[in-house]
Amino acid sequence: MNIQAKPSVFFPFNNSYARLPDRFFARLKPSPVRAPKLIRLNGALAEHLGLDPETLSSPEGIEIISGNRVPEGAEPLSMAYAGHQFGNWVPQLGDGRAILLGEVIDQNGVRRDIQLKGSGQTPYSRMGDGRAALGPVLREFIVGEAMAALGIPTTRALAAVTTGEQVAREQLLPGAVLTRVAQSHVRVGTFQFFAARGDEEALRLLADHVIGRHYSDASRSDRPYRAMLDAVIARQAQLIARWQLVGFIHGVMNTDNMSIAGETIDYGPCAFMDSYHPETVYSSIDQAGRYAYSNQPGIAHWNLAVLAQTFLPLLAEDEDVAVAEAQEAINEYPELFKAAYLEGIRAKLGLVQERDDDADLAQGLLNRMGENKADFTLTFRRLCDVSAVDSSTDGAVRELFEDPAGFDDWAERWRERLNQEDSSDDRRQLAMRAVNPALIPRNHLVEEVIKAATEAEDFTPFNTLMSVLASPYEDKPEHDRYSRPPRPEQVVHQTFCGT
Ligand code: AMP
Ligand code: MG
Repeated sequence: MNIQAKPSVFFPFNNSYARLPDRFFARLKPSPVRAPKLIRLNGALAEHLGLDPETLSSPEGIEIISGNRVPEGAEPLSMAYAGHQFGNWVPQLGDGRAILLGEVIDQNGVRRDIQLKGSGQTPYSRMGDGRAALGPVLREFIVGEAMAALGIPTTRALAAVTTGEQVAREQLLPGAVLTRVAQSHVRVGTFQFFAARGDEEALRLLADHVIGRHYSDASRSDRPYRAMLDAVIARQAQLIARWQLVGFIHGVMNTDNMSIAGETIDYGPCAFMDSYHPETVYSSIDQAGRYAYSNQPGIAHWNLAVLAQTFLPLLAEDEDVAVAEAQEAINEYPELFKAAYLEGIRAKLGLVQERDDDADLAQGLLNRMGENKADFTLTFRRLCDVSAVDSSTDGAVRELFEDPAGFDDWAERWRERLNQEDSSDDRRQLAMRAVNPALIPRNHLVEEVIKAATEAEDFTPFNTLMSVLASPYEDKPEHDRYSRPPRPEQVVHQTFCGT
C-alpha cells in the first residue's frame, strides 16, 4: 500500500525582496500566539496562488498563518519605509506589525507577497504592540475582498485567524492575524526612506525591483525610471478614479499607505459613502478632513509629487533636468485622473458617446444627490432601471432624494442626452448594471459583523456578508437587506483604525 505523506510544502516560495540588501528590511520571525483558530480561508484565492486550501486550513496550516511556525522556504522579514502621515514627515516607519513570509507566483505568473499582519513586534514597532485587533482584521478582509469583487485593484485577504490572546486598545479586544496578499508591499514611503538618506544605490535597486515586478514595459524604454514614474502615476490616476466612482473613502492616504503597484492597500478607518456628500470623512483620526472623499484625487497628486521628488537622482544627472522631468511627469496626473473618472462616470450614466458637457451632466446629478442626501450606490443602481423614454419608471430612484423633485429636472436633461445616443433601454440598462454595484460593504453591516464576532465569537454574519459581497453587480431579492442604506439609527459616523 502506498500511503502518501502529507505535503510538507505549504507555500511554493520564490522570494525576491529578501535578495535585496540588508538595509531594506529586518529579518525576524513572527511572534507565536497562544491559541490560533481559523476564522476564514479564502479558498479561491489560495488556489489561484497555487496553494492547497485543505492543507492551509489543517492544524499545521493554521500554525503557519498565525505565525507560530515558519514554513519551509519562507524568509520572514519586516520592510523598512518612511512616509508623510497627514502631511507630516516621518523618516522611519516600516512594518511595525507585519511580516513578509515570502513570495509565490500565482496562476497568471504574477509574483505575490504573502504577509502576516498582526504578527508581533518588529524593530519598526515604535510604541506599538505589533498586534491587530479582530475588528480591523475583519474590516480589511471584508472591504478588501469587496473591492476585488468590484474589480478594483487591491491587496487581498487570504486568511484570518483569532489568536486566543487579547490586545489592549481603548478596551481589551480579541487579537487576530490577517494573511495578506499583494502584488508587492513597496510603497511611496519605501522610496522616501532611501531618498531621505541620500542612498542612491538603494533607490536604484528598489526602482529596478519594482520595474521587474510591476512595470516590465518600462524596462524596454530608453529612460526606464521616467517610464516607471509615468506608469505609477497613470495607475494611481486609474485607481483613485475607481474609488471615486464607487464612493470609497480610504481614510488614511498617507504616502506610506500608497502602493507602488497601484493597489488599494492598508485598509484602516476606510468606508464606503452611504448618502452622497463630497466632504464625507469617516476616519476618527482625520479631524481636519484631509482625506475627505473629494480630496482624494488631489491627495494622490500630492503623494505622487513626493514620489517624483524621490526619483530625482534616477531621472537625470543634472538636477535642473531631473526636476523638469519630474515636473513633466507629475503634471500629467490631473488629466489622467479626469479622463479615467469621466470614462467611468459616463459608463455609470449609460452614456457611450462622448460629449463636452458630460462632466457637467454628471456633476448636476451629484449636486442634487448632495443637496438631497441621496444614497450614492443606490442612486446609480436604480438609475439602471430607468427608461430613456418613460419617466413613470423614475419612482425608485426619485424616492432616494429628500425632495424627489430635485431629481426630476436632471432626469429630463439626462433623457434628452440618452435619446441622442443610438441605444435601447435594454442594452443600456444591462451595461449600466455591470458598472453600478448593487452591493457594497456598508458601514453599518461591517459594524454589525464586527460586533457579533468581537462580542459573541459569532462569525456567521461575517461569512454571510462575505458571500453576499462576492457578486456586487447582481440583484438578488434575498440580498435586499444588504443593499439598503442604513436607517437613521444605523448610520455609522466614524470608523477607527484600532491600531
Ligand atoms: P497604518 O496607519 O496602519 O498604516 O500604520 C502606520 C504605521 O504604524 C506603520 O508603520 C505600522 O506598521 C505602524 N503600526 C500600526 N499599528 C501598529 C501596532 N499595533 N504595533 C506596531 N506598529 C503599528
Ligand atoms: Mg500603513
